Amino acid sequence: MTTKAFVIGNPIAHSRSPLIHGTWLQQHGIDGSYEAIDVAPDALPAFFDRLKSGEFAGGNVTIPHKEAVFALCDSVDTLAQTIGAVNTLIVRDGAITGTNTDYLGFLGNLDAGAPGWSDNLETAIVLGAGGAARAILTALQVRGVKSIWLLNRTETKARQLALELGPTITGAPLDAFADIAQGAGLVVNTTSIGMHGSRFDSLDLGFLPKSALVTDIVYAPLVTPLLAEARARGLKTVDGLGMLLHQAVPGFAAWFGVTPEVTPQLRQLVEQTLDH
Ligand code: NAP
Repeated sequence: MTTKAFVIGNPIAHSRSPLIHGTWLQQHGIDGSYEAIDVAPDALPAFFDRLKSGEFAGGNVTIPHKEAVFALCDSVDTLAQTIGAVNTLIVRDGAITGTNTDYLGFLGNLDAGAPGWSDNLETAIVLGAGGAARAILTALQVRGVKSIWLLNRTETKARQLALELGPTITGAPLDAFADIAQGAGLVVNTTSIGMHGSRFDSLDLGFLPKSALVTDIVYAPLVTPLLAEARARGLKTVDGLGMLLHQAVPGFAAWFGVTPEVTPQLRQLVEQTLDH
């Protein structure tokens, strides 16, 4: 019987997940499918009823559902509870478990793109305090980063999230960057700025030390204006596409029973679908 998986979101047409999972299914000769399903927020409970019927082995969840699905799962693992968002569902015997693989995707991408990046990393700056930031802040905490500045356009959201996730995180507005950049070894953009070429109004990377690493989780375009500026200043950079590829690995393994690989060929295939 064909094993089925999905990605739900609203809208969902832009998702590259069907390409990623479809490529792995083909490579491994698995009798499986992975489809994009547009589910509006008010249709989410009905979709969960459909899941309980056993039609799917599980699937991915993307914007705007990552927080709403939390309450609809039968259980949510400890990691997703800490992060406060679910991006992967696993269905077993009619019970739906939620987990979060953005965390592993972020770490897998930096480990591959900048090996040793977290060794002796004392201070990091995270831009943005939305759903993706939660997974990244947790990942940085687990890697032992001693001090994390969380800068957000809406300062209250940064302070709130810092309170929620613990004392190593300090919330502040975006314009605090100039004062703290000098001591930072890593900058992570988790805001949606960079999509379609949008850019930060005033974020001067010139304040960073020359050894700093700059990474962006926005991957369309692959080289965001932030990464382009970092490169022009001679800073190390890692783009966000690897996070998308690496976050897909644990879900595929859970649904289809094979752990797939993130290869340069897969990356190239997905890269061809992005604006440059
Ligand atoms: P979200 O929950 O909607 O959060 C959006 C964040 O961006 C908030 O901090 C928001 O600030 C900030 N922001 C939006 N527009 C802004 C602007 N004009 N100026 C300053 N800040 C602005 O979204 P999310 O789920 O965290 O996702 C964020 C981005 O990450 C999206 O582009 C998404 O595609 C990408 N992403 C990539 C991966 C990957 O695998 N590479 C994984 C997950 C997400 P306020 O709080 O002030 O509104």
